[in-house]
Amino acid sequence: METKQFVTTMDAILTRIEKARLGVSGHHIVKIVAASKSATPQMIEAMYNIGQRCFGENKIQDMSEKVHALAHLPLEWHFIGRLQTNKINQLIDLDPFLMHSLSSLELAQELDKRLHVKNKQMNALLQINSAYEEQKAGVLPEEALEIYEQISLTCKNIQLKGVMSIGAHSEDTQLIQKSFETTHTLFESLQSKGAKYCSMGMSNDFELAIACGANMIRLGSILFK
Ligand SMILES: *Cc1c(COP(=O)(O)O)cnc(C)c1O
Repeated sequence: METKQFVTTMDAILTRIEKARLGVSGHHIVKIVAASKSATPQMIEAMYNIGQRCFGENKIQDMSEKVHALAHLPLEWHFIGRLQTNKINQLIDLDPFLMHSLSSLELAQELDKRLHVKNKQMNALLQINSAYEEQKAGVLPEEALEIYEQISLTCKNIQLKGVMSIGAHSEDTQLIQKSFETTHTLFESLQSKGAKYCSMGMSNDFELAIACGANMIRLGSILFK
């Protein structure tokens, strides 16, 4: 893909994000994570060249290949996918800036154990299944505060930095909005416990997510068409 094409795409997206964030407040800052699962290292580098620093991958193997291929660039890598227990050590070795998809207390405790062995720390978000969808990972909203507290207390090598959600899989805007509001309400109650990021919103619903308080959005298909 040509750099020029990326600039045009990014300009249009930034204009939309700017409008959405100003609708919340002039002080509301939104960080973009480019979900690069469909992008080659060359495309990621082209995106870097126009100013994008944060990239998110959902498979450890792909992430590992891209992290190594692009080690010459000061990129910020995020892990946004389902983490299988047998891939935990690989993720730790990749030193992600933020792991978005901590989806249970058990996974957190397993991750914590491996971090301890490697004498490392990891920043993570608790994934909330705010749409109550069976095919989605994450903890249920009514358990989220308790589990967040449990992880904070028992997993000393994990620094919880907030929450993540995938919006309801629906054509019904109100339903999607409700799922975002649920996650944002939890985020607000967790701010006193150090929550900084409310990661929600993808290509099809990022403006709604921002309106509901997202300060980190994960954009894939809209960036890498
Ligand atoms: C792929 C992916 C995204 C980006 O999705 P798009 O709809 O392509 O913007 C966001 N979050 C997660 C967890 C993903 O796997």
